[in-house]
Amino acid sequence: MAIEYTLAMVKPDAVSKGSTWHIIQDIASSGLKPVAVRMTRLSKEQAKTFYAVHAGKKFFEGLTDFMSSGPIVALVLEGESAIPKYRELMGSTDSKKAAPGTLRQKFGTDVSQNAVHGSDSPENVRREAGFFFSGTELAVLGISIDAIGATVPPAAPSAPAAPAATPANPVKR
Ligand code: UDP
Ligand code: MG
Repeated sequence: MAIEYTLAMVKPDAVSKGSTWHIIQDIASSGLKPVAVRMTRLSKEQAKTFYAVHAGKKFFEGLTDFMSSGPIVALVLEGESAIPKYRELMGSTDSKKAAPGTLRQKFGTDVSQNAVHGSDSPENVRREAGFFFSGTELAVLGISIDAIGATVPPAAPSAPAAPAATPANPVKR
């Protein structure tokens, strides 16, 4: 059992339709737990930085216009195999082709307005979570910055229970 973190985002199309809380409900039902949440709005420049890997592609201008067009909700999710598990819950990039029951099929429209984002690798979880949350903020929420983008080993077995306190009125023999 390896606990992992991923970075999810509810995109402007889904936020504006009021789908945020339905999406979070589906996330929770899948067994992934939101452990940090922020609602904000990306500037065009921030959208370009976030999606820098796609710079130069034909959809880059449209994507960054869309992603800066309204509020988004960023979440850090925790769970077993969170990265692939959340990618599966999202469904394929094109909402028109996404499998029934996936977030993109339920809440998105097409290949660009597809409701949700999810990190695709541990390195990108680290980069993308750092985009929205500072190390201090994550630490306050109980998330170690070292654990972001890494697989957290199972917790060490708990320490042996302390010896039972001497009963107040021990039976004397
Ligand atoms: N996108 C788009 N047109 C395309 C492909 C992608 O507008 O032909 C947008 C879409 O919003 C997608 C994002 O660019 O979610 C990032 O693309 P990527 O290939 O990384 O897909 P994802 O990882 O989001 O499934
Ligand atoms: Mg991607």
